[in-house]
Amino acid sequence: MTYPTQPQASHYIDGVYLEDEAGESFPVIYPATGAEIARIHSATPEIVDRALEAARRAQPAWAALSGTERGRILRRAADIMRERNHDLSVLETMDTGKPLQETLVADATSGADALEYFGGLAGSLTGEHIPLADGNWAYTVREALGVCVGIGAWNYPTQIACWKAAPALACGNTMVFKPSETTPLSALKVAEILVEAGAPPGVFNVVQGMGEVGGRLVTDPRVAKVSLTGSVPTGRKVYAAAADGMKHVTMEMGGKSPMLVFEDADIENAVGGAILGNFYSSGQVCSNGTRVFVQRGVKEKFLDRLTERLKGAVIGDPMDEATSFGPIVSQRQMEIVQGYIAKGVEEGARLVTGGNRIGNEGFWLEPTIFADVTDDMTIAREEIFGPVLSVLDFEDEEEAITRANATEFGLSAGVFTRDLARGHRVIGRLQAGSCFINSYNDAPVEVPFGGVKMSGVGRENSKQAIEHYSQVKSVFVRMGDVEAPY
Ligand code: NDP
Repeated sequence: MTYPTQPQASHYIDGVYLEDEAGESFPVIYPATGAEIARIHSATPEIVDRALEAARRAQPAWAALSGTERGRILRRAADIMRERNHDLSVLETMDTGKPLQETLVADATSGADALEYFGGLAGSLTGEHIPLADGNWAYTVREALGVCVGIGAWNYPTQIACWKAAPALACGNTMVFKPSETTPLSALKVAEILVEAGAPPGVFNVVQGMGEVGGRLVTDPRVAKVSLTGSVPTGRKVYAAAADGMKHVTMEMGGKSPMLVFEDADIENAVGGAILGNFYSSGQVCSNGTRVFVQRGVKEKFLDRLTERLKGAVIGDPMDEATSFGPIVSQRQMEIVQGYIAKGVEEGARLVTGGNRIGNEGFWLEPTIFADVTDDMTIAREEIFGPVLSVLDFEDEEEAITRANATEFGLSAGVFTRDLARGHRVIGRLQAGSCFINSYNDAPVEVPFGGVKMSGVGRENSKQAIEHYSQVKSVFVRMGDVEAPY
């Protein structure tokens, strides 16, 4: 099966597509059917070297452009992405299995938002003037870091490529990006579009491969910064490797985020939040609120409404825009999620609905809800990354906060209550980077995104991301004579 929107080759380096059949080949699978839709070759060490060399060569001239000129290119790329949203969304659906209903509004569009936002900021990046004693003064210059490496996970391939490329390029860096080998296609389209928009060759390059290729990129001395979206075990390895070369890092890891539903909450809104925070993208979202703590008085009502509304999920052909629930990204991930469902049952959680595989073609699992989940159960402690929601009961606010924080993760947290004082008080004490009051999983580009504790280091999106893709040079200027002791 070939789609007209498919990229032309495995890698994109120095402004052109590049194939290298010497690299090990791997299939790209459409998760809805299990069919092979493309074959990609892993980057050999020579390809990795070419990509890094292209990025290194292109960087000084790119940084020497004015911010406004760089920004214009990024904003043009955003426009092209929006014009081609439909084709890009079809490709993203082929790559990830996520329903077109989602990819049309959440992938290329959010990538375009990032390109537009950081394109807009690029011309306003400045240092500061610092007046000092005796007429002396200093100024600071915000400089690019150099060559950055981006490594992506498989759940939002286009968005992740753009969330990393847009701030990096706005600041005058160049980038080599490695997508997850599970979803290698869309990042190539991002590269193609950036070049079409006017980015000089070498400014944004894509190489394919598994962790080994990522490892080679991270340890290369030409690289100044690494931004990874992935799991905690990978994050540990990448962070350690980057530390060895004293490189800058941004680490966007997983989570086991709590969502607290108090008795005074608008239950329909809380159920809506729980659905968005557990079943969108078939639950494959790092910030998901997978531990839903519901205050005892409203627990059964919450469960009834949740189960009822889940029946409205349209499970079917992801290319049909009416479909609202798609497959899991891969056989492997489906088996991991099935393993967690089995553990949930084995450890005594109450299976309220779901739990089964759907059909035997492709990688489909039913949306699954567990109730009576306790803090010690595996499904309450480990990130599942699939459509599995756990409901835990609580009695009072203090208890809920303590239990919500009893995790190594700290990506997101949500509170549903009509008492706004309580909303702010509780959120103020929850250990998480990206929080929500009476909502869940909104991620506009204007707002910083990232985690605390094991969920990450640094922030993506917003003006904060600029701090993570630039460094400050300070210059002291003496206006008088230099007084030396001898
Ligand atoms: P992985 O951690 O398995 O992989 C992430 C990326 O790192 C992949 O491209 C992978 O390559 C690469 N990689 C693996 N090992 C190394 C290494 N030693 N050196 C360099 N690169 C390496 O994550 P998944 O792809 O399975 O994605 C799911 C995870 O991502 C979840 O835990 C989720 O929570 C997290 N995530 C976090 C987000 C956030 O913003 N906080 C957003 C989305 C997901 P390959 O897989 O091709 O071998």
